[in-house]
Amino acid sequence: MKKTALTHKPVSLAVIGGGAAGLFAAMTAAERGVGCLVFERKARVAAKLLMTANGRCNFTKDISAERMLKDIGEPVASFVRPAISSCPPSAVAAALKSRGLRVKRMMDGRLFPASEKAADVAHIFGDALRDKGVPVVTNCPVTGIQPMKNGFIVATDNFTVWAKSVLVATGGVSFPKTGSVGDGQRFARELGLAVEPCRAGLVGCDTDDRAVLSRAGRRFEKAKASVIVDGREVFSSEGEVEFEPTGLSGAAVYNCTRHVARKGFSGWSLALDTPEGRHVVEKPHMRPVKVAIVTIGGVSMDEIDPSTMESRKIPGLYFAGEVLDIDGPTGGYNLTLAFATARLAVDALSRRRP
Ligand SMILES: Cc1cc2nc3c(=O)[nH]c(=O)nc-3n(C[C@H](O)[C@H](O)[C@H](O)COP(=O)(O)OP(=O)(O)OC[C@H]3O[C@@H](n4cnc5c(N)ncnc54)[C@H](O)[C@@H]3O)c2cc1C
Repeated sequence: MKKTALTHKPVSLAVIGGGAAGLFAAMTAAERGVGCLVFERKARVAAKLLMTANGRCNFTKDISAERMLKDIGEPVASFVRPAISSCPPSAVAAALKSRGLRVKRMMDGRLFPASEKAADVAHIFGDALRDKGVPVVTNCPVTGIQPMKNGFIVATDNFTVWAKSVLVATGGVSFPKTGSVGDGQRFARELGLAVEPCRAGLVGCDTDDRAVLSRAGRRFEKAKASVIVDGREVFSSEGEVEFEPTGLSGAAVYNCTRHVARKGFSGWSLALDTPEGRHVVEKPHMRPVKVAIVTIGGVSMDEIDPSTMESRKIPGLYFAGEVLDIDGPTGGYNLTLAFATARLAVDALSRRRP
């Protein structure tokens, strides 16, 4: 089919991806008076957001920016410092509360919609974009981005759009049915940007350890999981541990697998401290990225100016959310990262518009 150009004058901002980062970016752009258009690959936006915390959406944590950065750890913390400092957890909560979200705070500070329905968060974005008349083109995967002298040509299978700035917010590569299939990482590579290999962060692990498998179905809310490398405990996390028919899951286990993936350990063991005592699982197998809560890897942090989220090589091209090589622990950190990087990008591009 011949591609027709949809616009004769440029839209200020084309947002690619209607997930947490893309929707928060579009909502912010509408507030700042930046004309914008959202492209979404799937028939509906926010598929992954609706899955979060088993459909309850732990959208941030009631802690300071400093504390959040400390928990995120290096090398990500230094890169996201400007984003989290300008859009700390309190600002994420305020943005949603000011649009009518009633919020529930857990003892550990995690924030959820009081209804425990992720759909309430998705509706806030949907309503905000409808109110401001922001077009959201669904069922419309972007197939390529071409930098021009005066902006970008954003291509789909059927038409192209001319945009002054582009924000790539296409997510990681986990749960590909939600639409995050690695397109943004491909665009980055095609444009000559370095992309770190995508792998699982925050994921359960499988084992054939009989003591684990025989406990399948047990779940401990107050447990501890620790990573052991060369006989030394190198990381630990307190929280939920769940025994499953093939292995282990739960927040404490997820935080351990994230640490292992970030550090690149190959030989490691997982120590579990539960009310039933200590047990060490030798050489657990991390599950694949397609079932991970977050993707580690993506567009290299070195490629992006952390104070604007703009590509260092291609002015006007911005990235936000999980498409970047950024990730955090469980507990609302990853959505906060998506929201904060999205807002920083929009604030930066709205300042540099003529
Ligand atoms: C099971 C599960 C539970 C989770 N629970 C939590 C939680 O409770 N708290 C938390 O903080 N984090 C949680 N996360 C992580 C969090 O959901 C993600 O980090 C976050 O959604 C990333 O946002 P994003 O906008 O970068 O990517 P996504 O939310 O994945 O959005 C990307 C969007 O881009 C679209 N897209 C992709 N390619 C194209 C293209 N070529 N053209 C147009 N559109 C495209 C996709 O269809 C998708 O809609 C969870 C994740 C999972 C899988």
